[in-house]
Amino acid sequence: MSEKQLIIFTDSGDTIIDEATQEFDKAGIVTRAEFIPGAGKVLKRLHEEGYHIALVADGEWDSFQNVYRENGLGYCFEQWIVSEVVGEQKPSVKMFDTAMEKMGLSEEDKPFIVMIGNNLKKDIAGANRYGITSIWLDYSPRYFHTEEEADWHPDYTVHTPEELYALIGRLEMQAEKRRENTIW
Ligand SMILES: [Mg+2]
Repeated sequence: MSEKQLIIFTDSGDTIIDEATQEFDKAGIVTRAEFIPGAGKVLKRLHEEGYHIALVADGEWDSFQNVYRENGLGYCFEQWIVSEVVGEQKPSVKMFDTAMEKMGLSEEDKPFIVMIGNNLKKDIAGANRYGITSIWLDYSPRYFHTEEEADWHPDYTVHTPEELYALIGRLEMQAEKRRENTIW
């Protein structure tokens, strides 16, 4: 397995897990949730193929810990960037800066980073403004489905985790070519 060039930042709610299936405790912390059909398999596969993956998500630290402990896929994330800990939510630059720092990335890596999310206002606008590639998974009917601002426009749109997997493969090939061309 060769090292992957593409670096993946991903949201969780309605991107990997289905928010409609979330169960909460009395304090409002999520205790468990189901995957969007196919999303668990895709996350596991991308991890096994050697992609560096960071969770970049808005919510409570304990909610994400609970969900990914229960579903068993927490090990797929190299770093967990959670708004409760960071103190700001996407599209805040601070969320993306924290992700860069925790993943040991710098400005030159930006052309190789993708942000996957379901929310145009948070994930897509955040990624666009930050200068990384935005991928919109439009599976969930929740939240925005119209581009209210110019910078809400995703670089790529996919409808299912399987489509996402195929797109990541194509972007990885492009990234490998680009890396080769910059070595001299
Ligand atoms: Mg979300």
